[in-house]
Amino acid sequence: MFSAVAVAAGLAIAASCRWAWWRPKIQGLPVLMYHKIGDAPRSSPLKQLWVAAADFRRQLRHLKGLGYAPLSFSELRDAELGKIPMPQKPVLITFDDGYANNHELAFPILKELNLKANIFLVCAGMGDASGWDKKIEPALPLMTWAQARELQDSGLIEFGSHTLSHRRLSALSLEDARGELMESKKRLEQTLGREIIAFAYPYGDGADRPELRRLAREAGYRYDFSIEPGVSPWPWDPDSQALARLPILGQDTIIDFHLKLTRGRAKLKNPLNALKRRLA
Ligand SMILES: [Zn+2]
Repeated sequence: MFSAVAVAAGLAIAASCRWAWWRPKIQGLPVLMYHKIGDAPRSSPLKQLWVAAADFRRQLRHLKGLGYAPLSFSELRDAELGKIPMPQKPVLITFDDGYANNHELAFPILKELNLKANIFLVCAGMGDASGWDKKIEPALPLMTWAQARELQDSGLIEFGSHTLSHRRLSALSLEDARGELMESKKRLEQTLGREIIAFAYPYGDGADRPELRRLAREAGYRYDFSIEPGVSPWPWDPDSQALARLPILGQDTIIDFHLKLTRGRAKLKNPLNALKRRLA
């Protein structure tokens, strides 16, 4: 009997180290961060940034089942301004980089479930390929402008900027960083014909630098997003920090997904630390 209790206690402790179920439920605005949807190439060293299409569908069905309402950036703004009611359980679904697989594999699932999402585009690379991680992963096709328009016309997808060329903003002069922020916004607005109000820092780099955040606001972005894992309080104070996000990774189980969404993290460790070291 005693040993059964001991085993149960041992398992509970092990599970508590692995999963953060014991954390209090979070208050605030959960923002999911995806990159690539599909099966990771065998040789990919960045496998965790690939989420299989079947897992993506399962996660969105779970989200929907729990009554979350995924918003576009402009709906978030309108709710913030009191023009539309804020849903009881708001959430943002975001994708970084604008890979063609977002159009090919993520969009049909979003359409099937009638859910809204937001994609941060690297506008100098549209219709071309991602070249920025070449040292660690082969380039991947990015969506074309025509595909971006198709997504926008569906009414389900809104775009944000992820700079012109996916460079690390903190490595640039302030003048060049301003150019990346302003020029990408202008090009997206001219090509897509609507206002761009959100920005995500490539690699999360610069999100902790007040001078770069100031440039982002001066460029006209209402919301700026880091890759710091967690959930920002809502209402959000733009002077505090860039909006945190919840990285959804290829190895996440549905329990991990649930805990990230409701507790702000699934594990004790920051899953992006190893990745950040790789990318540094
Ligand atoms: Zn990126």
